[in-house]
Amino acid sequence: MTRPLRIMKFGGTSVGDAACIARAAQIVAQAARDSSIVAVVSAMSGVTNSLVAAATRAQSGDRDEGARLAGELRRQHELAIRALVPQQDARASLLRQVDEHVAEAQRLCEGTALLRELTPRTLDAVSSLGERLSAPLLAGALVQAGICAQAVDATELIVTDSHHGGAEPLRDLTRARALSRLQPLLQQGIVPVVTGFIGATPEGVLTTLGRGGSDYSATILGAALDASEIVIWTDVDGVLTADPRLVPDACTIPEISYREAAELAYFGAKVLHPKTLRAVMDAGIPVWIRNSFAPDHPGTKITPKGRTNGGGVKALTAMSDVALISVGGPGIVGVPDVVGRTFSTTAAVRASVLLISQSSSQNDICFIVSSSDAKRTVEALREEFSQDLAHENVEHITLDPEIAIVAVVGENMRGIPGIAGRTFSALGRDNINIIAIAQGSSESNISFVVERGAMKAALAAAHREFGLGARQHGLPAASAS
Ligand code: ADP
Ligand code: ASP
Ligand code: MG
Repeated sequence: MTRPLRIMKFGGTSVGDAACIARAAQIVAQAARDSSIVAVVSAMSGVTNSLVAAATRAQSGDRDEGARLAGELRRQHELAIRALVPQQDARASLLRQVDEHVAEAQRLCEGTALLRELTPRTLDAVSSLGERLSAPLLAGALVQAGICAQAVDATELIVTDSHHGGAEPLRDLTRARALSRLQPLLQQGIVPVVTGFIGATPEGVLTTLGRGGSDYSATILGAALDASEIVIWTDVDGVLTADPRLVPDACTIPEISYREAAELAYFGAKVLHPKTLRAVMDAGIPVWIRNSFAPDHPGTKITPKGRTNGGGVKALTAMSDVALISVGGPGIVGVPDVVGRTFSTTAAVRASVLLISQSSSQNDICFIVSSSDAKRTVEALREEFSQDLAHENVEHITLDPEIAIVAVVGENMRGIPGIAGRTFSALGRDNINIIAIAQGSSESNISFVVERGAMKAALAAAHREFGLGARQHGLPAASAS
């Protein structure tokens, strides 16, 4: 009889130090009793940020950055290895691998400093090193726990296009590679421990799937291997009614649909990478979100249909790393194709528009992009409309970076009258000013823009209004580690 296959992904905090890695190994060891397991692992928490920061500083010519980074990475990983792996040979082999990866990080930073150039391809090579350092650690800890395990580099499994920093998987090639590389291991009872976040082009050039992309790695592999379920182990009790860091009263949603979860992720719920569910939509594989620090908690099950509450608000999200761009002035009514030019210019600089808002006057086109895209979008727009600005047909192209988007999410919500009204009255009662309301969003979300300083209060007001809080249900608030 074949055993069910489960993919188990451990996020950065779930492998943040030796104790966390040991806990992750216990979770895998227990699950391995009755199913085949493929583990997918993120970098230890903070490591990807350090790698990216070091590469960026090296780009400005800092030649010492490589050595500094190497020292930091070596210390952190060696400490974990010494605590996890007492056995001499195994420990020596792991330390050797750490040395190799750390030396590569140093070389890449030194090369970057020398050239003062950081290409997307080099940035991918640097930022991939966190996962390449952590996967052997979890495999080593599993072997200590008596489980046969082997670290596998996802460059051997996940085939992607060459869009560095946000590569897309090529489904058929990935399926063929993943099956031929992982099936023999699984048949021998070995747990493959795969690096999250990374892949490679058909030619073998390393790519990354985007920040937070290890969740996507897990579902890509789950779909490729026809897994029976995917479990994403993180540091909170599942998908909650809001980010518990912003709304302490948030509580776990036991079951939610792919669509609702995708909407939450798209509008900033960091618990899931926005593309995570894309990979499993066709196959309908359930995805669990669970807390590796509280493994007895059932967490959230994400399923194709979810558990309906008849339509209505399920959860809230917020995004603060965004900026509002407005193109306007009374003269824009006469400017030819102003809307088309605005958005084709935005697309040309690869900025994605998070929402298009209804402006308070008819003379403005307002839209929101992420903060990292804002400056180049405004520059491109000023270039595009330079003639119109000179002739004052377009009076202003402005950027407001001090804003946040808050989204109210739930399936079929737009069919229920009054949700928008209730949201806005609740905010009004708390004196929160709404700058703009989203247009053209899906049936599952209503989004609005507030000043960044009012974001937390807006979340609290809406959370209370829709009775989403743990206390309102007489429950304890969900635990975050
Ligand atoms: P990991 O390192 O495991 O991938 P992340 O930090 O990427 O974990 O995501 C988990 C975090 O997502 C939580 O600590 C929480 O602060 C945040 N988060 C934001 N919105 C939500 C939500 N609706 N439900 C649960 N967590 C959320
Ligand atoms: N380590 C990567 C990041 O920090 C990927 C992930 O954790 O999912 O973005
Ligand atoms: Mg994450």
